Amino acid sequence: MTVKQKIQSLRNELNTHNHNYYVLDNATISDLEFDLKLKELEKLEAENPEFFDANSPTQRVGGSITKNFETVTHKNRMYSLDNSYSKEDLLDWEKRIQKILGRTELEYTCELKYDGASINLTYENGQFVKAVTRGDGFQGDEVTANIKTILSIPLTLKGDFVSDFEMRGEIILPLNGFIKMNEERVANGEEEYRNPRNTASGSLKLQDSAEVAKRPLDCLLYQVVTSERKYKTHFESLKNARKVGFKVPETITLAKSIDKVFEFVNHWDEKRHDLPYETDGIVIKVNNLQQQEELGYTSKAPRWAIAYKFKAEQVSTILNEITYQVGRTGAITPVANLEPVQLAGTTVKRASLHNADQIEKLDIRVNDTVFVEKGGEIIPKIIAVDFTKRPKNSEPTHYATNCPECNSELIRTEGDAKHYCPNEFGCAPQITGRIQHFISRKAMDIDGLGGETVDLLRKEGLIQNYADLYDLKVEQIIPLERMAEKSAQNMISGIEKSKEISFEKVLFALGIRFVGETVAKKLAKHFKSIDNLMTANFETLIAVDEIGDRIAQSILDFSSDLGNIQLINRLKDSGVQLEVSAESLENQTDKLQGQIFVVSGVFHQMSRNELKKAIEDNGGKVSSSISKKTSFIVAGDNMGPSKLAKAETLGVTIISEQDFIDMVS
Ligand code: AMP
Ligand code: ZN
Repeated sequence: MTVKQKIQSLRNELNTHNHNYYVLDNATISDLEFDLKLKELEKLEAENPEFFDANSPTQRVGGSITKNFETVTHKNRMYSLDNSYSKEDLLDWEKRIQKILGRTELEYTCELKYDGASINLTYENGQFVKAVTRGDGFQGDEVTANIKTILSIPLTLKGDFVSDFEMRGEIILPLNGFIKMNEERVANGEEEYRNPRNTASGSLKLQDSAEVAKRPLDCLLYQVVTSERKYKTHFESLKNARKVGFKVPETITLAKSIDKVFEFVNHWDEKRHDLPYETDGIVIKVNNLQQQEELGYTSKAPRWAIAYKFKAEQVSTILNEITYQVGRTGAITPVANLEPVQLAGTTVKRASLHNADQIEKLDIRVNDTVFVEKGGEIIPKIIAVDFTKRPKNSEPTHYATNCPECNSELIRTEGDAKHYCPNEFGCAPQITGRIQHFISRKAMDIDGLGGETVDLLRKEGLIQNYADLYDLKVEQIIPLERMAEKSAQNMISGIEKSKEISFEKVLFALGIRFVGETVAKKLAKHFKSIDNLMTANFETLIAVDEIGDRIAQSILDFSSDLGNIQLINRLKDSGVQLEVSAESLENQTDKLQGQIFVVSGVFHQMSRNELKKAIEDNGGKVSSSISKKTSFIVAGDNMGPSKLAKAETLGVTIISEQDFIDMVS
């Protein structure tokens, strides 16, 4: 087999596994094997850059940065859909189109209305070319690099299909992925995303495609747009699209009459809550493509299709009590405790009230009968009070003035919707929450110590903060409930081992508000030690790439607190890493600050990975694709001809391996 054949066969194989897993939901290879094959392909492609292919499975991991998305005019306008809300509306629609077409017997397709962001994918000769958002329907933003990271979207089609066409679909965020993302945000002390739809559409416009790659996005396809008359019906075109690799949901159904459409509507109105993603309605389309053409469009929407919107499910129930939850950062969340009620397939007992303003705006009071709705958000919300049922002796709600846990007076800073308990060091859920965060996997990763044990240790008076962990002794732990010598030993050695955790993770573990994983990395890289960070002033802080006012202020607040200073000193004394290790510092500079590099070809004095590391160690960024933003291309032997051409058109400077070495030494 020639190298070219080997590369092609690996690409085909990886594409098939991707398709099996992400479209057919049927894994045919282990993750490990997949990674090994991908690595093998990466290596072959790196060694043979003349076989570069923008649609290779290796090009889907992301990494390119787009600062400004290009505006692109749609070849075919992306229309909106007319809405209907009742069966009468649907019957009216049928009458209108029957009249235009001059016939009464019509066939329809029924599809779910996927709730996400619409996308237009262009394919030429079986190859993915570009992806553009709907925008205003005439023009959208080109988001190709981001879309490529969505693994259920085929980049290379298999089998027979029309040669030039656009595929339209919806980028969605399935519910389980959405919930997982939010769990991570909570763990990072960040605000939760409100709903899957906005999160999906926001994802398309992220500047860093590697960030998009991390999000569990999916793409469900619903329309083939082509001038070729290869298919007679919409249904047939979608069936074939599925065959060549697109994820066309199996829920799409043919309906020979409007009564069959009603059956579909009724079925999904009830069953939609069992779906792994959200839907807010049904889309009904005339199946025959010739008839679609005859019906044409109004100024806004096709006449041949209509959306049927489900009513957001609502129930009324009694509000028994308002309680207040205290988070790790001291943020207070009011919670409505409801008389349990069935809603959208689950029993609802609690609803979020968000904050004091929300309660005041809706004038929500204990013992009120309230309307609860499950709309785009996972947590049900109270949308209104049934004032006709308000008890005579009802009293306006007085928002909590003191912390439910420690009784400290709550504070609310201007511009912040939430109240906070300021008693950072004496409020139980804050103490426990902070230590739980400290030991978590992405932070100090302490084995042998779990969340419940932290609470137990706190209750027993053994720990009040994370620095106390390092003073724990086996003898103190053994007598505790459900503790044996072995588990106590494990806990202590886990704590001991955490002293090797790198500074950037320690910084994240400290739980400074708004300092999540990525921000911690940036800060560690820039300031190199906790002392530098804690003595930095506002100007120095906001001068760091991607550090804004809010983060800077939060760091200043943290650094000026005496309690925190003491804690940090104790951590230092215990041997926790509070600066970047000498080893990793050795070769670091910021000579390449602000420069973006693309590495291509084969090198002699160092490996590709060493080269990439050298770029990052010197403050530069590595990107996988060439754009206007690229500062330099480091070209080894056999740089791919397409990359070379692209670099030349964009006027990006190409340097050799030796030039690069001279640059940093
Ligand atoms: P609207 O945004 O309410 O005007 O509805 C039109 C949008 O519904 C389209 O732009 C699509 O993004 C979306 N949509 C979701 N599912 C479908 C489907 N099965 N067929 C057509 N459009 C759909
Ligand atoms: Zn408190």
